[in-house]
Amino acid sequence: LRRPMIAGNWKMNGSGTLANELFRKFTSKLKNDSAEVVLCPPTIYLESVRQQLESTKDSLNGSLVRMGAQNVSQHDFGAYTGEVSAKMLKEAGCNYVIVGHSERRRMYGETSDIVADKFAAAQKNGLTPILCVGESGPAREARRTFEVIAEELDIVIEKNGTMAFDNAIIAYEPLWAVGTGKSATPEQAQEVHAFIRKRLSEVSPFIGENVRILYGGSVTPSNAADLFAQPDVDGGLIGGASLNSTEFLSLCRIAM
Ligand code: 13P
Repeated sequence: LRRPMIAGNWKMNGSGTLANELFRKFTSKLKNDSAEVVLCPPTIYLESVRQQLESTKDSLNGSLVRMGAQNVSQHDFGAYTGEVSAKMLKEAGCNYVIVGHSERRRMYGETSDIVADKFAAAQKNGLTPILCVGESGPAREARRTFEVIAEELDIVIEKNGTMAFDNAIIAYEPLWAVGTGKSATPEQAQEVHAFIRKRLSEVSPFIGENVRILYGGSVTPSNAADLFAQPDVDGGLIGGASLNSTEFLSLCRIAM
């Protein structure tokens, strides 16, 4: 049984007080059978989220709230100005890290090769990578969706071995749905999620069955129920709606 997950990717938004506000809602509303919740604030706010986690841990009704980073260096240490290593993120209290978000691939030149190395650095240091994959609008129109997704998965497996996804989360985020207000339909999401699961099952049936695959791209409380009801959709990676504590909490409850 795959426990649903709701991960909030704040991107370069939010504040220390957003963390406060979210936890105030979580403490009264989350239950021990809720979806696993992951907060991915900007690096500078990890410490405020960690403090909130620490001070509310007895009042979260046994629910699972964890912290993730939005990016990680592929290197262990050294002269890499502006970068943060997986070991540092682990020490800061992270359990997860997003790797290969389309914004990083597109705007910061992260190739699939680099993404696979970041994935490795995360796992080596005890973090669970949340690997983002997804096709562009033109790729979908050219019916290349499966090809793009397969390539993005295969390079991670090539570099990290057949058990790569034993300790990883996958997020399907079609580029045309990210921040556009135009979510994939539940059918479109399910089709790609099923493809991903099948592809991983060919490598390892155990992994195919157990890996959690999140959908991301313009998820809101009004479209989430239908998306999360799909058999291969195990929750969501939420951008915009993760910045509104009422909407985010409502997504956490819909996901269960
Ligand atoms: P939106 O939910 O704002 O479309 O962003 C999705 C996303 O990129 C999450 O990583």
